Amino acid sequence: MPLDYQPGVFLPTPYGGGGTRGHPSFKSGQGAFKWDDMPEFAMEDNPGGDVPFFGQPSPKELPSFKGYEDVGGFGQEFPLSPPQQDYKLSHSEPETVNFENESKISEKECKQLLYEFASEHTCYGKGFIEKIDFEKILNTSALHYTLESCTESRSIGYIYNPYRGEDIKDEKLGQVPDPWSIECSPDEYFTNENKKIIVPFTDSIQICYGCIGKGFVKCLRCAGKGHVICGSCGGSGRTKRYSSDPHKQVTDRCTKCSGSGNTGCLKCSAEGRTTCGICNGYRQIKCNIQLNVKFQRRKSHYIIDNSDLPNKLVKGAKGIVIFQQTLPMVCPVSNYPLEEIKVNSRKLVDEHLENFKNERIIQQV
Ligand SMILES: [Zn+2]
Ligand SMILES: [Zn+2]
Ligand SMILES: [Zn+2]
Repeated sequence: MPLDYQPGVFLPTPYGGGGTRGHPSFKSGQGAFKWDDMPEFAMEDNPGGDVPFFGQPSPKELPSFKGYEDVGGFGQEFPLSPPQQDYKLSHSEPETVNFENESKISEKECKQLLYEFASEHTCYGKGFIEKIDFEKILNTSALHYTLESCTESRSIGYIYNPYRGEDIKDEKLGQVPDPWSIECSPDEYFTNENKKIIVPFTDSIQICYGCIGKGFVKCLRCAGKGHVICGSCGGSGRTKRYSSDPHKQVTDRCTKCSGSGNTGCLKCSAEGRTTCGICNGYRQIKCNIQLNVKFQRRKSHYIIDNSDLPNKLVKGAKGIVIFQQTLPMVCPVSNYPLEEIKVNSRKLVDEHLENFKNERIIQQV
């Protein structure tokens, strides 16, 4: 057994010099590693044989922390239930708001708008505009109520990195904070954004699960043998050729394998093993809980429009803002003269609380 195989003992110099997976940057000079389940004879070359599949430890085998009991394993994100939303806040009496008056459009403004419309369409003439006699201008206005919520959801999972001997920060050095008390805010409200934070004091050092602390794994190109059947002679060590006499074949020693019938594996340089891609040869991994924070923009509309205009166009139309409120949690509109607006404003506020109850509302407009 090679001298550098000491399970569970951290060596500052990784096996294979920290070479990347699949690229044998080492040469132990000790010949192929003797795997217990290695085949007796060299196998066919298997260039597609990459790295072995590593079973992952379940999070239950990793340290557990208060508030993080339902943590996901490596690379997984398990959702956290948000703290209770403050329903009272959204149901309290809103401040009295003065709504700005609706505007009325003049004949001059009508013509100006027609000019703008015509110049946007090259095939339209403009001469007709001056000739128009307006009999009557009917002002209809639509009301467009929008509720936007910026929500936040959090999930937790374990991550790992090769452990290179650096100082670790574990529970002995400080208290692991509650997952919802960790400060994290979006760079900008009402945009979709993801942030990842390493939960403090969750460091732990584990034996690498990929190589069980060896730093290397079996090379699957040669099934760990270090050698493969020679591709030139098919393993016989001999090649045949025709001489000057077309009825006579001459047998030569295979030049590729020098008659041995097998050649050194190109992937592992005949070592039968490659540097472990999980620990990069360091034998141990540093594990942490990672908090994944996801900010999302949630938008709902309510439109009151008595004209024949499709709601799609009303949504996109320019208008005047008669009321706007931005708060951690807005109050439903309660003193607008139109009952329909009041009812639907409350409905949308309640819907956001209900539909996104697995998310925390952090800002509304
Ligand atoms: Zn050969
Ligand atoms: Zn190999
Ligand atoms: Zn490993």
